[in-house]
Amino acid sequence: MSTLFLRTLRDDPADAEVPSHKLLLRAGYVRRVAPGVYSWLPLGLRVLRRVENVVREEMNRIGAQEISLPALLPREPYETTGRWTEYGDALFRLKDRRGADMLLGPTHEELFAQLVKGEYSSYKDLPVTLYQIQTKYRDEERPRAGILRGREFVMKDSYSFDLDEAGTKASYNAHREAYQAIFARLGVRYVIVAATSGAMGGSASEEFLAESEVGEDTYVRSPESGYAANVEAVVTPSPPAIPIEGQPEATVYETGSTPTIATLVDWANATLDRPVTAADTLKNVMVKVIVPGKEPEIVGVGVPGDREVDMKRLEASFEPSAVELLDEADFAANPFLVKGYIGPRGLIAHGVRYLVDPRVVDGTSWITGADEQGKHVVGLVAGRDFVADGTVEAAAIRDGDPSPDGTGTLVSARGIEIGHIFSLGQKYTDAFEVDVLGENGKPVRLIQGSYGVGVSRLVAVIAEQTHDEKGLCWPESVAPFDVHVVIANAKDPAIVAGAHELAADLDAWGREVLLDDRKASPGVKFKDAELLGTPYIVVVGRGFVDGLVEVRVRATGAVSEIPVADVRSALG
Ligand code: ATP
Ligand code: MG
Ligand code: MG
Ligand code: MG
Repeated sequence: MSTLFLRTLRDDPADAEVPSHKLLLRAGYVRRVAPGVYSWLPLGLRVLRRVENVVREEMNRIGAQEISLPALLPREPYETTGRWTEYGDALFRLKDRRGADMLLGPTHEELFAQLVKGEYSSYKDLPVTLYQIQTKYRDEERPRAGILRGREFVMKDSYSFDLDEAGTKASYNAHREAYQAIFARLGVRYVIVAATSGAMGGSASEEFLAESEVGEDTYVRSPESGYAANVEAVVTPSPPAIPIEGQPEATVYETGSTPTIATLVDWANATLDRPVTAADTLKNVMVKVIVPGKEPEIVGVGVPGDREVDMKRLEASFEPSAVELLDEADFAANPFLVKGYIGPRGLIAHGVRYLVDPRVVDGTSWITGADEQGKHVVGLVAGRDFVADGTVEAAAIRDGDPSPDGTGTLVSARGIEIGHIFSLGQKYTDAFEVDVLGENGKPVRLIQGSYGVGVSRLVAVIAEQTHDEKGLCWPESVAPFDVHVVIANAKDPAIVAGAHELAADLDAWGREVLLDDRKASPGVKFKDAELLGTPYIVVVGRGFVDGLVEVRVRATGAVSEIPVADVRSALG
């Protein structure tokens, strides 16, 4: 440690919000360069490499082959799939000196599809799974908590290519099991939840969420049935209760000025010849329907940028005079605030039409229904939040709502996404026409899967789940060192020599040893040892004249004084 490139900080850095971030900074693991951009110092890099290696070993075990693609990419492949535009502001775009558009890769579905197309031509070549552990770039709206949500971060991304559905399922399951093995080895507490496929497209999808209060994802779980889902993707197996009537096509609205009833009606007649994007924002509008003789009913909120506030339908159902706009006070008082339109016949959120069956349970309303493809969905309206389309920041979910599978009650908790597995279907292989010659001589279009692990994020997640008030507390699988040997008194030549000898012996035994040979006081050394979080701390001090050293187990705080000769067995 007298030569290690390390400076620990006594106080919490002012700009660090969550414990892992504070501790990784204080313990000298990482340093900030720009928002969401961090340097890895020796100890941090050691942990990162060990996490990487666990991931690598488990990927290799399922037969995935490691390659490495560039992060600096041309626009064309992403143009082909539409993601050059769809990715929105999160994509780092740049131009080269000739004016050609380029980007820094946020994820590499396109490149892997193209690569396989270029190399493989026969069904005999398949299946294949390729992966990389590589730096990704996303211009996150809110980089947060240091390496937990970076704008530059390390991801393991793998991609499977299969000839048929059975093959795709096998690849998906192999990844699912590999991820379980990875997170078990890393000692992470996590849940697997149903997820939406988001910007990636595709069908089946599950997320691995590390249990953590500081997580940005909310999931619900039924302890009775094992049902678990990200609130963005709560799925019910039962068909919708309410059939759709009339014209099912959606009308798309151009966004414009602050809406009034008149402009809303105008919107109902307008069409937009491009997809609505997140950039389409306007003030919310609530719609209240007053039917004479009935309680006023709030049937919807139009969030401009959503595709539809179906005023025509609304007017067909109610007297036009019964429809009025609400003000802020109504917003505050109403539990039905949704992004999209919720009415007696339909809810439309972000371009997807859901048939809905709104039910109020204890002040919170569930929405069950189906989209046009017949996929069953459940949304949740809680206070100001509508939870079904992935746009909600903080969903307030009351524990004890009924589970949508009907077998229990739901509890909600927060989590950090550490892994995500997708069946992409043929979205990308269609875009690039990735075919091979089949057994019968006809071309077969490949089916792609995509699977990510947040490698650098995991360093923060592990720190978050294992730290205590004294500092970091690494599991043995990823600790930067296995043993931290402290020379309690650097002025005593016998102690110094004994500690060096012990360190050399542990080193020869195959353990990574950090030796604190600094001239600092024992108090400073103990504090630093606890802060750095190596699993075992061996103190060579006063007892050494009798051949004794002290072994401290960082996680439990257990201390024992044992003969030097027994240290190996004490460390397992
Ligand atoms: P999140 O919901 O946290 O934004 P994501 O769904 O956008 O993540 P994916 O596209 O599924 O992320 O990427 C695969 C994995 O990469 C994620 O499961 C996560 O562990 C990791 N990851 C994604 N974004 C970041 C980031 N900004 N910083 C660190 N790790 C990230
Ligand atoms: Mg994201
Ligand atoms: Mg996510
Ligand atoms: Mg994801």
